Amino acid sequence: MLQDQDRIFTNIYGMRDRTLAGAQQRGHWDGTKDLIGLGRDKIIEIMKGSGLRGRGGAGFPTGLKWSFMPKESDGRPSYLVVNADESEPGTCKDREIMRHDPHTLIEGCLIASFAMKAHACYIYIRGEYIREKEALQNAIDEAYAAGLVGKNACKSGWDFDIYVHHGAGAYICGEETALLESLEGKKGMPRMKPPFPAGAGLYGCPTTVNNVESIAVVPTILRRGADWFSQFGRPNNAGTKLFAISGHVNNPCVVEEAMSIGFEELIDRHCGGIRGGWDNLKAVIPGGSSVPMLPRDVMKDAIMDFDWLREQRSGLGTAAVIVMDESTDIIKAIWRLSKFYKHESCGQCTPCREGTGWMMRVMDRLVKGEAEVEEIDMLLDVTKQVEGHTICALGDAAAWPIQGLVRHFRDEIEDRIKAKRTGRVSAVAAE
Ligand code: SF4
Repeated sequence: MLQDQDRIFTNIYGMRDRTLAGAQQRGHWDGTKDLIGLGRDKIIEIMKGSGLRGRGGAGFPTGLKWSFMPKESDGRPSYLVVNADESEPGTCKDREIMRHDPHTLIEGCLIASFAMKAHACYIYIRGEYIREKEALQNAIDEAYAAGLVGKNACKSGWDFDIYVHHGAGAYICGEETALLESLEGKKGMPRMKPPFPAGAGLYGCPTTVNNVESIAVVPTILRRGADWFSQFGRPNNAGTKLFAISGHVNNPCVVEEAMSIGFEELIDRHCGGIRGGWDNLKAVIPGGSSVPMLPRDVMKDAIMDFDWLREQRSGLGTAAVIVMDESTDIIKAIWRLSKFYKHESCGQCTPCREGTGWMMRVMDRLVKGEAEVEEIDMLLDVTKQVEGHTICALGDAAAWPIQGLVRHFRDEIEDRIKAKRTGRVSAVAAE
């Protein structure tokens, strides 16, 4: 179990002072000039050594990502863009950082920008996060007033500006290239890759897009060392991590824990157990709505990290753990996600534009049992045609929940279809 002294986020519940003075009391902005003084190569080396993998869902190594940025400018400026869109259903961890512990993020932005030769950083924040934006902007204003950012930030000799940009609430703007388009004032539609943002990102300039949590942990990693951070979790899954647990647990919460914590320990220790006890658990979506669900038998022994969950054909994603007990209409739960993805598709590629609607309409009928059993395989086949055949990952995100449903709860779908035929109402969902 993670000890309090090893927690990076010391005000995640907002019980303490979130102002600059409070943050400094808790050790933030301490010796930032010296951290910058380590130099770019050393900072990137420490980040690589820490084993930090991106906290926004994909889990790409953060230090490695930074190293893709050009060492010498060809005349174009470099940018750091922080993805604070956090629109994945079930995910609510970055908002806690921004509204209660914003200085962790701002200090991280300065150091990360320096390491990537960026004089400017943009934080793209989700449209619905009004109070979070206010808290973040207040903290940025404080940092400017104290000389921590701006010209000669922290007296380091590095000029650094930081801006908050408010999105308008489209899920797809959480995809990094759609986010860049939106930031440039265009429609939030994902770009084809390559070129990758490190080559041509914001305004065609070298850009790194990082998640809020990935950046907010940087100063503490540099202060306490790569070895300190990498001691938590299994190899290749290092560090501490914010888990956001929602659904049918007794106390839903956001909590910082060591990576690779057991699912049972996570739930019992921090959430007061499953509603109605462990035998009442039905299934869990372990990493935000786009990863396939896993049934109780698998989840009871689950290790909450990238590699273990991938081996089970699911994923850690954003570590937004959605718990469903036996009272859940599991088909309807996935239908709701299908409806969401259909609504959020930007429509520029055919498999996603047509496929998400097609999948949702079949799910519509499966919820009511108004389908043929053969259609289950047909639906699965469509998810395979969408998966991997689209410009961005929204196509995959729409396909995977359905695949998880069919993989683990096919019996329930078939049962509902048969029940509808025979008039066995108890197995049919309430409409
Ligand atoms: Fe747009 Fe969907 Fe294609 Fe992504 S996969 S670019 S959301 S149509």
